Amino acid sequence: MSKWCPLRNLRPCRAQRQTATIDRVIRAFFADALLDPATGETVKEAVVLVEDGRVKAAGRRASISVPADCERIDASGLTLLPGLIDCHVHLTSLGEGLDFALWLTTPPTFELLGAVRAARRTLDAGFTAVRDAAGSPAGVRMAIDAGYFPGPRMLVTITALSQTGGHTDVHFMCGADLDIPLPDRPHGTVDGVEPMGRRVRELIRAGADWIKLCTSGGVLSPGDQPHHAALTLDEIKAAVAEAGAQGRKVMAHAQANAGIKNALRGGVATIEHGIWLDGDAIEMMLDGGNALVPTLVAPQWVIRHSDAGKMPAFAADKARAVVADHSASIRQAIEAGVKIAFGTDTGVGPHGSNGEEFLLMQALGMAPIDCIRSATTVAAATIGMPGVGHLKEGSWADLIGVPGDPLADLNLIATPDNVHLVAKGGEIVKSRP
Ligand SMILES: [Zn+2]
Repeated sequence: MSKWCPLRNLRPCRAQRQTATIDRVIRAFFADALLDPATGETVKEAVVLVEDGRVKAAGRRASISVPADCERIDASGLTLLPGLIDCHVHLTSLGEGLDFALWLTTPPTFELLGAVRAARRTLDAGFTAVRDAAGSPAGVRMAIDAGYFPGPRMLVTITALSQTGGHTDVHFMCGADLDIPLPDRPHGTVDGVEPMGRRVRELIRAGADWIKLCTSGGVLSPGDQPHHAALTLDEIKAAVAEAGAQGRKVMAHAQANAGIKNALRGGVATIEHGIWLDGDAIEMMLDGGNALVPTLVAPQWVIRHSDAGKMPAFAADKARAVVADHSASIRQAIEAGVKIAFGTDTGVGPHGSNGEEFLLMQALGMAPIDCIRSATTVAAATIGMPGVGHLKEGSWADLIGVPGDPLADLNLIATPDNVHLVAKGGEIVKSRP
């Protein structure tokens, strides 16, 4: 694609962005095909016309008039589709295992700057938007938006809230507490209705777009169990009410059956992991229109890290114990028609590996188009980013190009190597010759 693709496109810079506000930047991406996840239709000989970062028109070349003086991007050999969306990542987690000694010797700034590398790898894998499910303060989102470093569009939860001894309580049995106070990252442990409401307010004050609760134990925490519920129904309702009063929704790390049901009764919007769904929980989700974010790949990475000697035994044992139930639970949800929003828990696994989740979803019975919808149209609606997940007039020109038909082979979006072109807001952030 080098013919029409000047090198300067590869390095979106401040100057370019400022120019865009003065002169209109019109760019046309010419590709072999264009897949619209909403309809499932692919048109051949396609063009996506972009003006000032947004889609002006997208479809068959013959049906779109391309201004003669616009910048032409040759994406021949590629199928274009909207940039992918991951509804559950942790950009400040390395994704290389769990090492408490390393944790103790890592300054907060080093942990934070890990998000710069993670953001780049996430983009390179074709993911142009993410919801960060704890770890990233709002400054990460702000720095990406300001163009300090390349990264996906972000929504942040900042801190995941759990009860004392719960999934995000990092007070260990020796007495050490690693919940170090940072001015832009409120504490994760909270008990009681009133403290919960206040903590949600603090998170919103710190810039949280979503609120995350842990309504069950988890795999990577030493002191709790995935099959135990956590937080009371009243605490969950208090968080949902406070979040809702300020226009935010709540996501729930919910693995235990009782924890899933408490979360749904309490009014959360999305169920993360969902290891032990049952018929009643599925019915509640169908009735409430809640989305399930499976993160099937997360326990796989815990096991892989463990095999490489990079995971404490307690976490590996818990991951091995849940993997089969997790798959069975998600399969049941898929069969019942629960809304599935793509999410990986990347940060448990390495950044850029997000796409593997597509293959696991497909193996549990999801059709390729539904896998792609889960990471485009469904994900955008689920996390509340209306300008992404589709390429229609007015949406952000966040798009990727892959060498072939992803509906015929999901591997084309499962590994970064297969994602040859990534554009965010019409600017090329990855281009493979
Ligand atoms: Zn997570």
